[in-house]
Amino acid sequence: MLADNDMDLRTNRLTIWHTAWLLDEGHRAGAESSIAKVVCSEAIYRVADRCVQVLGGQGITNDTLVERIFREVRGFRIYDGPSKVHCWSLAQKLVKRARTFKRRRRLGVRATGHAQSRAIGWSVHWTDRPAG
Ligand SMILES: Cc1cc2nc3c(=O)[nH]c(=O)nc-3n(C[C@H](O)[C@H](O)[C@H](O)COP(=O)(O)OP(=O)(O)OC[C@H]3O[C@@H](n4cnc5c(N)ncnc54)[C@H](O)[C@@H]3O)c2cc1C
Repeated sequence: MLADNDMDLRTNRLTIWHTAWLLDEGHRAGAESSIAKVVCSEAIYRVADRCVQVLGGQGITNDTLVERIFREVRGFRIYDGPSKVHCWSLAQKLVKRARTFKRRRRLGVRATGHAQSRAIGWSVHWTDRPAG
């Protein structure tokens, strides 16, 4: 469980750094921000849950800081948009991209490079429009 927590925390950090880097570079990163919010809030809940489990019964008493952390991180999955709502919004974007891709193909517009990357999924090219 300690190793699982370490892996969750490290991958969270990478997700956040990647999103922060995109924003620093002037990309809009709306999709990546949503992904970071969902991935990190779900992971931190799992991390806190494992900490409670490691401590056993003591983990759910008021005497431990872990009990308080577990209660507080539960909220992360709800505020600033519940996880499922972020997923719904991402799915909408994917469907829109797929429709655009299909329409372009029907019209015979060749999608190459960035346009192709944008149409088929998440990548840095997804957010290649500058902020503002
Ligand atoms: C401690 C705390 C602090 C907050 N601070 C702020 C703040 O500073 N500023 C602010 O503006 N708001 C704040 N909020 C409000 C917070 O953003 C909302 O609670 C959050 O957006 C969820 O809205 P809701 O509570 O109305 O739940 P609902 O939107 O009613 O959602 C309830 C459940 O239904 C699910 N659901 C809803 N729609 C869909 C859908 N389309 N598809 C699938 N599932 C769906 C959700 O996943 C969720 O599990 C805060 C909330 C809390 C608890």
